[in-house]
Amino acid sequence: MYEIYQKTLSKEVKFKGIGLHSGKASSVNVIPAKEDKGIVFKRVDLNKNNEIKANFKNVTSAKLCTTLENNHGVKVSTVEHLLAALYIVGIDNAIIEIDNEEVPIMDGSSRDFINAFEKNDLVNQTKKRKYLKISSKIELTDGKRRISIEPNDLSLEVNFQLNYKNKIIGKQKNTIDFQADNLDEVSSSRTFCLYEDIEKLRAMGFAKGGSLDNALVVKDDKLLNSDGLRNNKEFVNHKILDCMGDLFLSGYKIIGKIKCSQGGHKLTNDLLRKVFQNKENYSISEINEKNVPHSLVYRQNLKSIA
Ligand SMILES: [Zn+2]
Repeated sequence: MYEIYQKTLSKEVKFKGIGLHSGKASSVNVIPAKEDKGIVFKRVDLNKNNEIKANFKNVTSAKLCTTLENNHGVKVSTVEHLLAALYIVGIDNAIIEIDNEEVPIMDGSSRDFINAFEKNDLVNQTKKRKYLKISSKIELTDGKRRISIEPNDLSLEVNFQLNYKNKIIGKQKNTIDFQADNLDEVSSSRTFCLYEDIEKLRAMGFAKGGSLDNALVVKDDKLLNSDGLRNNKEFVNHKILDCMGDLFLSGYKIIGKIKCSQGGHKLTNDLLRKVFQNKENYSISEINEKNVPHSLVYRQNLKSIA
C-alpha cells in the first residue's frame, strides 16, 4: 500500500495541556476533514472569523515558535510540533479545534500526538495527494544562519547543523530522510533552551509554561533534566522536527533536500515564501501506482512488512 491518496482520521482525537509560552491551558480536538481541506485550525473559544488555515502565508511571527494568524487578527501559536506529527503520520486533511491561543506543548516533542493518531485507523480518501517537488536550488542566509532547498529524487531529506558553544549541544548535526528513515527518534525529541536564556525569555513574555517536564534545559555543559536525553542527537533532531512541521505549512508533502545550519522557524518560513515566489522553483504533482518509488513507502508500511 502506497501513500497515493489523501488521508484523514477515522474519528476525532483529543489533547489537553498547557502552552509553552503562554502558560495557558488549552484543549485540542483534531477532527476528520474532507479532501483538499488541508489542515485548518479553528478557535472554538471565539464564535466568528475563527478559522486559520495552516499555510506559510499566515505566519505572522516565527520568534521561538510558529504563530499563524488570519485576516481578522485571530491567532494560534506553537503549531509546529502538531503539524510535524500530522506530516509524519500522513494526515492530509483535518480541522484542529482549539479553545485558546496556543497548542499544548505536551512533553515538548511530537510523541504524544503521534501515539494518539496511530491508535486510530486513518481513512483513505478518494482524491490523490499532491506533492511539492522542488525544481531549482533556493538559498537564504541571515548572518550565520543558512538554509537551502534543492531537488531530490524521491523524498524529503533534511540535513541540519547546530553550532553552540557548550559541549553538550556543540556542533550536533544529523540528516533524516523522511520517507526511508525510522522517525521515532526525531518525533520524540524535545524542545530545548539554555538556562541563561530563561529569565530573558520570561521577561519578553515567552516560556511561561516551560519546565523540565516539557523542555531540555542546558546549563553550561550540563543537562538539568534528571532523566537525561532520549537519544544522543536529541537537540538537532528536535530542530529537524520543527523544520518539518514548518515545511508542512507549504500545504504539501515535499520532495526536496534541505540543508540548514543554525536556522529556525523564521528562516524555514522565509524559504517557503521564496520557493513560492517563482513557479519555476517547483512543480505540484500526484503520484500514481506506476511511478511510486520504493522509498515513498511510509514508516507504517515498513512496520507492517517487517
Ligand atoms: Zn520545537
